[in-house]
Amino acid sequence: MVAEGEGALSRPGRPRPPDLLRLHEAIAGLFATQGDWRRAYHHLRSALDIARDGSLRDALTSSYNRRYLDERLYGPFTDRPPLGIALVDLDRFKRINDTYGHLVGDRVLRRVADLLQEELPPEAFCARYGGEEFVLWLPGVDAGHAIRIVDAARARVARHPWSELQPGLHVTISAGLAHEAGAPSSPERQLRSADCLLYAAKRAGRNKVAYHDAESTQLITHSE
Ligand code: GH3
Ligand code: MG
Ligand code: MG
Repeated sequence: MVAEGEGALSRPGRPRPPDLLRLHEAIAGLFATQGDWRRAYHHLRSALDIARDGSLRDALTSSYNRRYLDERLYGPFTDRPPLGIALVDLDRFKRINDTYGHLVGDRVLRRVADLLQEELPPEAFCARYGGEEFVLWLPGVDAGHAIRIVDAARARVARHPWSELQPGLHVTISAGLAHEAGAPSSPERQLRSADCLLYAAKRAGRNKVAYHDAESTQLITHSE
């Protein structure tokens, strides 16, 4: 069984960032009452950094959130081309909620987010797009490498010992991967392509990664 409160920000023995934030605020207040503005400013800056990081994280999974993703989608483009964008969706997740309850569903989401974030290249990130959907943002990797990263994530989820969380539980994901070899013209359009490919993976039976090669949509099919 998995311990209560699993997830990077709430492991036992680690101060949770909101506590750290309050601590910095309180220390800043103390220094301010003593007229030590330099130290007060330093602690307020630290509190601000923690608050900003928290505003870009998803409260349930601690992965980046939609706000962060939107900054990357619509903000100035700073990534090293090429760029791979994968849209990942849990398979039949409603059924998991209906069978095991929403608390187990939440734990599954947290664990999937952790598994998606394992072994990502340094500049890549995972963000919760919404509900049971995540985006993998993969800058600076060629198409073959991007496909291997996304399919390795799919296989990690499929092979995870889910029955330790709940007897009989199985979890899989499907993904659509859109890759642009040159400087990406529009990451937003690329995400829409990933969404279409995700539906191809779903239609083909789930637990699959779909991507476009030069001519057609390809599906990676594995039996675990
Ligand atoms: P498909 O394979 O076609 O994607 O099927 P699905 O059941 O995964 O898709 P559907 O869109 O029907 O259901 C998604 C479910 O995800 C419904 C919703 O209740 C659940 N969900 C969304 N966000 C959360 C969450 O934060 N926690 C939990 N436990 N469930 C969530
Ligand atoms: Mg969905
Ligand atoms: Mg789903």
